[in-house]
Amino acid sequence: MAKRYSDLDWLREQGYRLTPQRLAILEVLKQADGHLSPTEIFNQVVQEIPGLTEATVYRTLNFLAEQGLVLVAHLGRGQLVYEFAEHDHHHLVCRNCGEMQEIDHRQLKQLYDNFLDDTGYQINTIHATFFGFCPECIANNRSGSK
Ligand SMILES: [Zn+2]
Ligand SMILES: [Zn+2]
Repeated sequence: MAKRYSDLDWLREQGYRLTPQRLAILEVLKQADGHLSPTEIFNQVVQEIPGLTEATVYRTLNFLAEQGLVLVAHLGRGQLVYEFAEHDHHHLVCRNCGEMQEIDHRQLKQLYDNFLDDTGYQINTIHATFFGFCPECIANNRSGSK
């Protein structure tokens, strides 16, 4: 289960080595209130840290994701997106229009319990993406096929 990090000072006290890059990237994600692509993150952070490369941003994001400080998701736009790990959630994404909805982790709790009962696997994925069609696209498709 992801820990909550609302306070970057607290992170330091926990012994996380927060280099200027790590700190700057965390700050950008914290302010963003949503998902950002590595390119979007790079474009913001490079203004603070001149000389930063996109490769460093990718490496840092990997590190932060491994530490559970940021959540990573594939939202079907060909690029991974990242967000500050504040609350456990998953996403529903429309394959047609790209509309996205967030669902609370509690909605999957029962499913994860079933996995444990059936397979012995204790699942700890807290940022999954489920692809399908949104209500609007379903409605439009129906009216269109009349
Ligand atoms: Zn998310
Ligand atoms: Zn849609």
